[in-house]
Amino acid sequence: MREFDIKSMIFTEVEDVVSSMGLPRFRAKQIFDWLQIYGVMSYDEMTNLPKSLREKLAEKYPINSCEIELKQVSNLDETVKYLFRLSDGNFVESVLMKYKYGYTLCVSSQVGCKMGCVFCASTKSGCVRSLMPSEILGQIHAAQRDMNIRISHVVMMGMGEPLDNYENTIRFLRLAGEEKGLNLSLRNISLSTCGIVPRIYDLIDEKLPITLSVSLHAPDDKMRSEVMPINKKYPINELIKACKDYTKETSRRISFEYAMIKDVNDTDECALKLAGLLRGMLCHVNLIPANEINESEHKRSTNDRLQRFMKILNSKGVNTTVRRSLGSDIDASCGQLRSKHVRNSVRRDDCENFSKV
Ligand code: SF4
Repeated sequence: MREFDIKSMIFTEVEDVVSSMGLPRFRAKQIFDWLQIYGVMSYDEMTNLPKSLREKLAEKYPINSCEIELKQVSNLDETVKYLFRLSDGNFVESVLMKYKYGYTLCVSSQVGCKMGCVFCASTKSGCVRSLMPSEILGQIHAAQRDMNIRISHVVMMGMGEPLDNYENTIRFLRLAGEEKGLNLSLRNISLSTCGIVPRIYDLIDEKLPITLSVSLHAPDDKMRSEVMPINKKYPINELIKACKDYTKETSRRISFEYAMIKDVNDTDECALKLAGLLRGMLCHVNLIPANEINESEHKRSTNDRLQRFMKILNSKGVNTTVRRSLGSDIDASCGQLRSKHVRNSVRRDDCENFSKV
């Protein structure tokens, strides 16, 4: 429950906890530092707090943990894939990627996902539950502590749909950008959505300088509805309008993700349609070779196809690049490691049906 989840609290809320326990105010700063900067998972590590106080806090405000269950390191490019075990025994995945400018962590926002995209392993067992802000932060802390590094960029592109866990996602973003805490630049955080249109409008009002990344994956309704069921609820024209409004209101460029599936959405005709849809928009298109997952028969497009698709879009004035695929030897696409590890043991405590989206 949020009211006892101390790692999901902003600084003033920790101050309230401290004052409700009759403690001096400086304790709030000490506790907040341990939780948000150092990412400790136990009060025992808070060595500047008296033992009796640590025991009291542990009893009333247990810290949500995020422990490494499995870790795979790519031999090709140092990409690290984590499977984390949460306090309740559920698992989520994160991927750590090393770039010239620093480390990027791809984090999960839910255990599983109910959005049903056909090319995605995360959704195959539905959604188990949404993550608390502390559990999204916990993935950053655990990776930083494990590798003894500082993560400079975060992408919310792991398991789950962040805008289906809206309040916790927003609180996570505010905590991650908190000067007294992790102090990550919000400009270095990308939030990826499959296109929950009303939440895109809500996001405009939050005035957060993050990058919005929209998984498009098809240039028309017929094709998009086949690979992304959310499109039946929020068709492409509504989505593109919301994206245009987002760029107009925030002056921030939108990224469109387009996973190239062989003989499905990778033809010249698709490229021309996509160019027509996005022409004139403040945007960038990322072409990604689709992940080949056991649970789907879809194959990724050839490299020649990717290059040709990119060329057509760029020639029509739509800024497009092909994204380098990292960690291809370690199940680095989202959901694969968890589904291998917990096959047949998924808990479905509070999963809603997709039809309720
Ligand atoms: S691609 Fe994203 S939104 Fe779609 S099922 Fe996978 S995790 Fe969910």
